[in-house]
Amino acid sequence: MSATITLEEVVKLLKNRGFIFPSSEIYGGLSAAYDYGPLGIQLRRNIERSWWKHFVENRPDVYGLDTAIFMNPKVWQASGHTEHFTDPLIECKSCHFRFRPDKLVDEALRKTDKKVGSISPTDHAGLAQALDDYKINCPQCAKHDFTDIRDFNSLFETNQGVVKESESIIYLRGEIAQGMFVNFKNIEQSMRAKLPFGIAQQGKAFRNEVTVKRFIFRTREFNLMEIEYFTWPAQADKDFATWKNAVLNWYTQEIGIDAKHLTWREQNPAERAHYSAGTFDLEYAFPWGDDEIGAIANRTDFDLKNHQKHSGVDMTVTNPQTNEKIIPYVIEPTFGIDRVFLAVIMDALEIIEGGRAGTDASKHTQELVLHLAPALAPVQIAILPLSKKDELVEPARKLQTTLSTKYRTELDITQSIGKRYRRQDEIGTPFCITIDFETAKDKKVTVRDRDTMKQDRVALAELEPYFQKKFKQ
Ligand SMILES: [Zn+2]
Repeated sequence: MSATITLEEVVKLLKNRGFIFPSSEIYGGLSAAYDYGPLGIQLRRNIERSWWKHFVENRPDVYGLDTAIFMNPKVWQASGHTEHFTDPLIECKSCHFRFRPDKLVDEALRKTDKKVGSISPTDHAGLAQALDDYKINCPQCAKHDFTDIRDFNSLFETNQGVVKESESIIYLRGEIAQGMFVNFKNIEQSMRAKLPFGIAQQGKAFRNEVTVKRFIFRTREFNLMEIEYFTWPAQADKDFATWKNAVLNWYTQEIGIDAKHLTWREQNPAERAHYSAGTFDLEYAFPWGDDEIGAIANRTDFDLKNHQKHSGVDMTVTNPQTNEKIIPYVIEPTFGIDRVFLAVIMDALEIIEGGRAGTDASKHTQELVLHLAPALAPVQIAILPLSKKDELVEPARKLQTTLSTKYRTELDITQSIGKRYRRQDEIGTPFCITIDFETAKDKKVTVRDRDTMKQDRVALAELEPYFQKKFKQ
């Protein structure tokens, strides 16, 4: 990531290049709602697929699951969400904008040597005091005149069925974890699973956030990937440490994020969820500072115990050594997909002032290169015939048909070759093939490497082993 990059530049690039569009843009958009375009959804799926392969398919002890967004409302009572899933809220008396006081305080703390999160979101008096102490003004109108802090439940409510009555209230899930807890016994029995084992799922969650900002970083509808790893209470600390490493390895080795940009930050007891016996946030070095893209928590037996109490269903397992019945502990690694997506883009993006020396004679004031890992790139090989003439486009189409059985390809016949290279660099395509007038005679093409700009003349017959080697590296 280059130091000069701003979030605004990234937002513009992602829109212009077909990664992310504002939702319902022709009607002026909707606050904090975004659509993934053709290249964006391909990149996101590639990240999700890497995660699924690494944590589900490659592990004999983790089972995949996909649960409904709508659940019996009793789930959210048992989990404490209907009562405790609240955020503190204040309103500016002057401009009537609403804010999260804890977030305002955290932003102020980031600029001091005091620790972020040292005041609990439930400590209304402490937050009010901090707003005064740090002279925090309304971010909208810069006045310092706030209402009292009150709690705001962030569960989205809707009605199921045709009659709008209180009995028909149903929630959009506020987290994907509960779907896995309520299926604990189903998985244990149907899969004959023995502790320790994990359940993994990916999917949407919804929170009626008071403040939304920073593009896809904080939105009301978002995508999560999570593992609930059920284990013996005595083994929980050890498994916590093992998972912490496994999570970091995925980020650095599978999706190419620089370890230098990732930090584990231990949540202090004041900011930790009430059920947690320990939580670390994984923070990425965004342009606005280190911020959370994932976390790992020891949720203890809190969730299964509550579901046992409220549902009356036995959630215990028997220890084969002692014959003792226990409720398993849960280690929970969480990944915010949209945030991971943003971190992947930020980490891969390089801005080169003055441009790179290339085949294009014209001088560029600025070039963008997205150094995505070849496995993640939405387009892996671009095929660029040097002319629009049939004698070059025909063999280009043929080559695309062959390569697309193994790789994500794109055929581009518009504009000058220099401009086409720029576009492929900006969308992160690792390799471009040019077909020229010599190709028909010598049966060779030129392959250009995105990162080194080195060009190889490769025989068509040798392309398959050539790319097999390149994509293995
Ligand atoms: Zn204001």
